[in-house]
Amino acid sequence: MGSVQIVTTILAAGITAVAVWLAVRAVLKMTAVIRLGQPAPERFSDKGARTKTMLVETAGHTRMLKWGVVGAAHWFVMVGFIVLSLLVLEAYFEVVTPTGGLPIIGHWTIFGLATEVITVLGLVGILVLMAIRLRNRPTRPGGRSRFTGSTMWQGYFVEWIVLLVLIFGLLIRGFKVATDHFEYPLWATPVSHAVGAVLPDWSDGASVAALIKIAISMTWLIVISLNVTMGVAWHRFLAFPNIFFKREPAKPAGSGLGALRPMTSQGKPLDFEEADPEKDQFGVAHVEQFSWKGLLDFSTCTECGRCQSQCPAWNTGKPLSPKLLVLSLRDHAYAKAPYLLAGGGKDLTGEEKATAAQLAHLDVLSLAEGDKPLIGDAESGGVIDPDVLWSCTTCGACVEQCPVDIEHVDHIVDMRRYQVLIESSFPSEAGVMLRNLENKGNPWGAPQNTREDWTKGLDFEVPRVGEVDDFEYLFWVGCAGAFEDRAKKTTRAVATLLNEAGVTFAILGEGETCSGDPARRIGNEFVFQMLAQQNVETLNEAFEGREKAKRKIVATCPHCFNTLGNEYGQLGGEFEVVHHTQLLAHMVSTGKLTPVQPVDGGVTYHDPCYLGRHNRVFAAPREVLGDAIAGEIAEMPRNSERSFCCGAGGARMWMEEKIGKRINVDRVEEAMATGAKTVAVGCPFCSTMLSDGVNGKGAGEQVEVIDVATVLLRSVKPEQPQGGKETAPVGG
Ligand code: SF4
Ligand code: SF4
Repeated sequence: MGSVQIVTTILAAGITAVAVWLAVRAVLKMTAVIRLGQPAPERFSDKGARTKTMLVETAGHTRMLKWGVVGAAHWFVMVGFIVLSLLVLEAYFEVVTPTGGLPIIGHWTIFGLATEVITVLGLVGILVLMAIRLRNRPTRPGGRSRFTGSTMWQGYFVEWIVLLVLIFGLLIRGFKVATDHFEYPLWATPVSHAVGAVLPDWSDGASVAALIKIAISMTWLIVISLNVTMGVAWHRFLAFPNIFFKREPAKPAGSGLGALRPMTSQGKPLDFEEADPEKDQFGVAHVEQFSWKGLLDFSTCTECGRCQSQCPAWNTGKPLSPKLLVLSLRDHAYAKAPYLLAGGGKDLTGEEKATAAQLAHLDVLSLAEGDKPLIGDAESGGVIDPDVLWSCTTCGACVEQCPVDIEHVDHIVDMRRYQVLIESSFPSEAGVMLRNLENKGNPWGAPQNTREDWTKGLDFEVPRVGEVDDFEYLFWVGCAGAFEDRAKKTTRAVATLLNEAGVTFAILGEGETCSGDPARRIGNEFVFQMLAQQNVETLNEAFEGREKAKRKIVATCPHCFNTLGNEYGQLGGEFEVVHHTQLLAHMVSTGKLTPVQPVDGGVTYHDPCYLGRHNRVFAAPREVLGDAIAGEIAEMPRNSERSFCCGAGGARMWMEEKIGKRINVDRVEEAMATGAKTVAVGCPFCSTMLSDGVNGKGAGEQVEVIDVATVLLRSVKPEQPQGGKETAPVGG
């Protein structure tokens, strides 16, 4: 060993020892913070499916690849990071001797070839990512950036480290080539040979370059260890467990939505018959009341801003950004952790748990963080502003896009649950809706005995369950479908088409109440449970004696479709629920309905969030339209998985939209820009929001908002009176 190698070896060992010590400390700290969360035993189920999903999502980059070039570039950088870690290990042999290398595999040409290819692709990948970050920097002139609010120096730092590590890897190889100690052939490592051709014949070159490479890598480790909230770096490790423990491991990638998680206390679903707010946790009032998976979510956020770029609230000037919400919760959790780890925190009655002695050694900042309300405006020092919390439409665009499977909607609803159930603090205008749900069983407060009014004037009988011996489908009409003027036209159209197709169906009539969706999304789990239990009982009675496959329900409202199909199972209601567009598509494809006159004038389709993103029904409505209209659907730029919300979900339908641009107006502008004269929808709330948007733009005479079923009916029965445009004022 020469004198240069003695120095390089000592320096490499020294910086590595410091980095490893700091990294171990950081991992222990992060683990301690994540363990502060509540139990989540269900996250350990189905380990086989979890492992498969984790491997498919990470190795296949299933989310990231939806972002085209950036996804591909990230894949190369990820693979580069994993494989080239071996080259960092190899550098420890090279600081000792410039001709050194990894034992065994270091002599394989295939290893030389693979690492050469990955180095080059990694270099291209990181340069692309750097260019994309620079092009999207928040300070660029004009436009909003997905990186707005991200800690930009951290992103630049990580990218430069990757770039430098790759460059120094090539320099090490180059010096070996220049000194004639490189054992891989030219054909396998052409770039290394090209670099070697321009480097001097310096015998210590490889050792010095290896030391610099180790120093750069360890600097990265030291910096991220001193910044445990640096998700842009830590996600390289945390993304794996975060995806492994995702809520629905068996579902294919991209469908981490659907049922909301039930309210839990100590990891167990809450039973409202016995629940006691002084003993049981009602929603989330403090950051440590999220489950450990929630805290892992917050720690894993890469600050990439893909969620933010898709969020309808953020895109229309509201204060909510799902990314900033997650970052606020993360920073708060880590700042509050010393206080919690010292035994601090409030019990369920609001009393401090720690003694003065336990908290005596804490600094004032940790104590102050412990005192912050989770939800509160700037004046009260809240972590999340109420306007942020209530701006969410639960559209799921954030969850859909998040490359590391963060579950924003569950966290938002958990915080709403505490605000509604314990604090009674929510936008006051929504109180009328909740009272109507409790007293009348529907959000509009319409009399229950008018639930069947939509059947009046139909030229066929609509039987109630119990009036017919047998029926194939139970037609779940929904409150909008029963009471709201526009939606009633859809209900009639669906009933007419089912009758035309010879489908036997029956309704519950006055036996039906609200599915509970708006109550659940606003956070009133108590009212949801009350309504849902009643409905489950009614439905179980209606289907008595039938196996699950024959307990078929067709619903026109995607919110009912989602709640009945995905959430009633939590209460013992197992049904086969289809959306009317799925059933109609089937009827058309099997020849039971025949479109005869194509609807012309151009048609665009708006994907309802709870039909599309939440339940992956993208094709059926398009198939129906494809058969019923002249020409192709004029798709909006934001469609299918990236569809833009109408603004009504998450109980926003019953809240005023006081901040920023109206979401429905934004969507209507996009729809109108297609030039289509018909905007087809598959949801009564979308219908109301988009109709209001069209009317608000004074385009009610030129553009019509109608349900897919109405489009089909016009094509199947062109002679049938259609009852005018569905852009009529709301009734009911
Ligand atoms: S669910 Fe939709 S509105 Fe809510 S934060 Fe996510 S993207 Fe924004
Ligand atoms: S929550 Fe997910 S999508 Fe949003 S910034 Fe973090 S990692 Fe990116």
